[in-house]
Amino acid sequence: TSVSPHARPIIRVRPLTCTETRRGDRRVVHSLGDGAVHVSAARHDATFGFSTVFDTGASQEAVFEGSGMRQLVELAIDGFSCTVFAFGQTGSGKTYTLMGPLAQSETQPASPALLGLMQRSFACLLEQSRSRGSDLALSASYLEIYNEQIRDLLSPGSPCTLPLRWNKTHGFYVENQLSVDFESLEAIVSLLLQGSQRRRTSAHALNRHSSRSHALLTIHIRSRAGRQSITPLTWVLQPSACPSKQGTLCFVDLAGSERVKETGSSGELSVEANSINRSLLALGHCISLLAKPRGKWTHIPYRDSKLTRLLARSLGGSGITLMVACISPSSRCLSETLSTLHYASRAQRVTTRP
Ligand code: ADP
Ligand code: MG
Repeated sequence: TSVSPHARPIIRVRPLTCTETRRGDRRVVHSLGDGAVHVSAARHDATFGFSTVFDTGASQEAVFEGSGMRQLVELAIDGFSCTVFAFGQTGSGKTYTLMGPLAQSETQPASPALLGLMQRSFACLLEQSRSRGSDLALSASYLEIYNEQIRDLLSPGSPCTLPLRWNKTHGFYVENQLSVDFESLEAIVSLLLQGSQRRRTSAHALNRHSSRSHALLTIHIRSRAGRQSITPLTWVLQPSACPSKQGTLCFVDLAGSERVKETGSSGELSVEANSINRSLLALGHCISLLAKPRGKWTHIPYRDSKLTRLLARSLGGSGITLMVACISPSSRCLSETLSTLHYASRAQRVTTRP
């Protein structure tokens, strides 16, 4: 398998929303082709280069097919830990890209054409599983980090806080997290819906259903036949730390980066905003340190936030990461757009050794 050694960032520019068009926002982000993104406004004029950019017209299917997501699913089946994370300002299209518009309305199911990266990956995974004669055991866990507390989105009743631990074999892990087995697309999609409805959201000026937490849905993929049928050749190809072939596919919907004054947040909302910003800052810090040339050993401060602890393996170690930077083309979002693009450019240089 040819694995890109980078934590690949891809860019998705969403269309202007009706509200933005109605109030006369200008479009300041343009894709110039060949991965170039141009941001133009009165005093800012910048061009960024990426390997993949999806402009406003890109369909959900085009994003799935063009992002390398299919390959990531296959690598997860092969035992790698793969992580997809969507980041960007609140309202920039993170949830839409991952799940489609369905998470916003509970009554009307979204049209299949609008389903996001997650449902498409699940379908791809189950297809693969079927074609391999169901030797894969699949289970899912779904957590959110809200105000630096980890909560299980799948356990029934009101979400309880779970402790985050560390040991030599597993690295960081969440104690007592629920993991639910599934065998069908319907089952995993229903877990996704149940869990995402339990996420903490609050309405504020930028997005009526703004997600106030980071949500991590992880699919654990175990090869049922794996233990017995491991051949010496497999050992050569898979010198990973875990002896049995167990891959993961993790989807992270990050809470939006935002400034307190722009969103009109106060009181409880500004406490939320501060812990969101703190963990995004910690993540950005780890990413920029990882992006530096590795001449000498650098300490990466994963312990600075729960988010970076949970992402430690996929960011720095043996994982493969796909980052989806979501941006709004609106003139009003200019400064956040620039900061998302800078963040993504830094991530481009992160190298991991899966
Ligand atoms: P975030 O999760 O980043 O806060 P959302 O995914 O909730 O943002 O998107 C904000 C709004 O923009 C939603 O109403 C969503 O349906 C719409 N939207 C986002 N991306 C797109 C897109 N690519 N095409 C059409 N509408 C989009
Ligand atoms: Mg969201």
